[in-house]
Amino acid sequence: MGVYKSAFLSIGSNLGNRRFLLQKAIFEIGKKAGEIKQISALYETPAWGFEAEDFLNACIEIQTLLTPEELLTTILAIEADYGRKRGELQGYQSRTLDIDIIYYEKEIIATERLTVPHPRMQDRKFILKPLADILPQFYHPILNKDTRNLLQECKDKSVIEKMNIQLFKNRHSLFASLEYLAIEGNIGAGKTTLATKIAEDFNAKLILERFAENPFLPSFYEDKARYAFPLEMSFLADRYQQFTEDTSQLDLFKSFMVSDYDIYKSLIFAKVTLQQNEFDLYRKLFNFMYKEVKKPKIYVYLYQTTERLLQQIKQRGRDYEQTIELSYLEKINRGYFDFLRTYPKENQLVINVSDIDFVRVDNDYETVLTRIEDFALSF
Ligand code: ATP
Ligand code: CA
Ligand code: CA
Repeated sequence: MGVYKSAFLSIGSNLGNRRFLLQKAIFEIGKKAGEIKQISALYETPAWGFEAEDFLNACIEIQTLLTPEELLTTILAIEADYGRKRGELQGYQSRTLDIDIIYYEKEIIATERLTVPHPRMQDRKFILKPLADILPQFYHPILNKDTRNLLQECKDKSVIEKMNIQLFKNRHSLFASLEYLAIEGNIGAGKTTLATKIAEDFNAKLILERFAENPFLPSFYEDKARYAFPLEMSFLADRYQQFTEDTSQLDLFKSFMVSDYDIYKSLIFAKVTLQQNEFDLYRKLFNFMYKEVKKPKIYVYLYQTTERLLQQIKQRGRDYEQTIELSYLEKINRGYFDFLRTYPKENQLVINVSDIDFVRVDNDYETVLTRIEDFALSF
């Protein structure tokens, strides 16, 4: 067992989607170098020493088992992964991502590849200002001054602006910030499996659709045209009641919720079953109810081909689902797509799962999580 060391890193970006890149860099550092212990505020600063776009900068503290050399190798690899091209040009350049080691414990290192403490940190407000957020009183092992002192004495007079943007230590806290994530999809798309996995992995409150006994179901099968409306109304009333109950019970330890359905589902299915005039009335009532319910920050729609849906429905072998036909699944798929066209784009994420298997293949599950993560970072 190695001993954990504390290291402070400066991260900056002035190209591309800067906030996105910095956040992804933090997640990568957390995965590959060690747990993120602290993150400063995010600052915008003018390019230093050259004319270019403004930088976003922050400092982080990590706890790592890597040696300084290994840490350097790791951060250089992360820079490369996130598109940093090291140019032929001499001097300072724009970059998608720059990660520097500021401190590694109290160590003083001067090798060809690595100088720690960072040799120019005391001249740079864009390092000292964020560093002072998370390490105000640590004494520089060579200059023997703490960060506040270094900042006061720093001759760098550039204007530095604190941004009102939160950076997250890891995916866990990013997901928690979403508050509510709904997973939707056609019958057999894997909603429940995905919602359950995410709830387990991210300590979320899981809200599953529960099927109440519907008293109109037997009559509906006798005379579909006549009983479709009360059947759908009955489903809607139950779903509304369950959903409001489930989403209003506060759980102190689980502020993040994941559900395997969204209340809009009622409308999508009713549209397939009901005649136009019945549906119009149904929608009026639905809209009243919808105003009252909690809306997801992200509505994830799992798109699956009808052939594979049918295959998955067969595999799970629920009796009452075995009569479902391809044409019905096609209607529902179309219903979802019509609906998605009216749903706010900034809150909907369609994930095509027709070529992946997030249930059995870990990598595919990771792909789905990354899609949600990247989307969440667009807020
Ligand atoms: P500056 O060092 O002035 O901030 P920079 O970050 O733009 O400049 P880079 O081109 O990113 O410089 O890095 C050049 C090399 O600096 C790296 O490949 C690395 O070997 C070396 N280096 C030395 N000390 C450090 C350190 N403390 N952190 C990161 N890289 C370092
Ligand atoms: Ca640098
Ligand atoms: Ca660097």
